[in-house]
Amino acid sequence: MVKTKAKIFLGVIVTLGLMLGVMIQLTLMARDEREGRLQGEALARAMSAAAVKAFDDRAEQQAQIRAGWAEQQAALTAEPVMRAERRAQEQPELLILVNPWNPLPEEYTMVLQQVGREFGTDYKMDERCADELEQMIFDCREAGNHPWICSAYRTQQYQQNLFDNKVLRVILEGNSPEEAPAIAAMAVALPGTSEHQLGFAVDIIDEIYTNLDEGQESTSTQQWLMENCWRYGFILRYPVGTTDITGIIYEPWHYRYVGARYAEEISALGVTLEEYLAMRRGR
Ligand SMILES: [Zn+2]
Repeated sequence: MVKTKAKIFLGVIVTLGLMLGVMIQLTLMARDEREGRLQGEALARAMSAAAVKAFDDRAEQQAQIRAGWAEQQAALTAEPVMRAERRAQEQPELLILVNPWNPLPEEYTMVLQQVGREFGTDYKMDERCADELEQMIFDCREAGNHPWICSAYRTQQYQQNLFDNKVLRVILEGNSPEEAPAIAAMAVALPGTSEHQLGFAVDIIDEIYTNLDEGQESTSTQQWLMENCWRYGFILRYPVGTTDITGIIYEPWHYRYVGARYAEEISALGVTLEEYLAMRRGR
């Protein structure tokens, strides 16, 4: 009986011991698990912080790229928008008329800008058309032609020298000194009546065919310019058969800036500046 009691007691002890062992084991496992979870969480946090940072860095980088791209796009679209605005704008001051009957206004002034330097020439134009002229020359060259600026802005003194030389040549050709100035004025404007003094006129010749005569019209350079100059705000100022209106001989090399707004219309109408101004007055 005692032996049986002792066996039961031992069994209970062993069972309790086993249970205690299991409990300790379970506690330890739970602790390990908790610690493991904490470690895992810490690792995950660290990892996600790195990931967030990497993402932020990338986002910053991407934002920079996007900003740069947007800037580029804005620059690319601004130019046509500016052109369209210019085209829509009324700028009647660009239509200033200077011809044998309308001399340059006494106090006329303009801001001049160097043009054609990259093409090996050294001239000045009114700053309102200098960039457009350079673009036109550039595009004309890109199209495979050989435009060459041979005259742009002229001072009163320079125009005077040109005119005096022309009178002399006209006399040497056999004309009387009395009639020579009038004849000369058909080709070289009287000082004070030349558009070149405005800074809005430019003579462009073909680099290969350099004569200032009607042969210019057959060069690929003039053909391109006559067809496209209006896009840059220029017109062929003295077209064939208009001497009675302009007072100047046919000059398939003399281009006048009037701005894209008017150049387009003048070209479409096929009229001279004098006729266009008369049409505007009649509107
Ligand atoms: Zn000219």
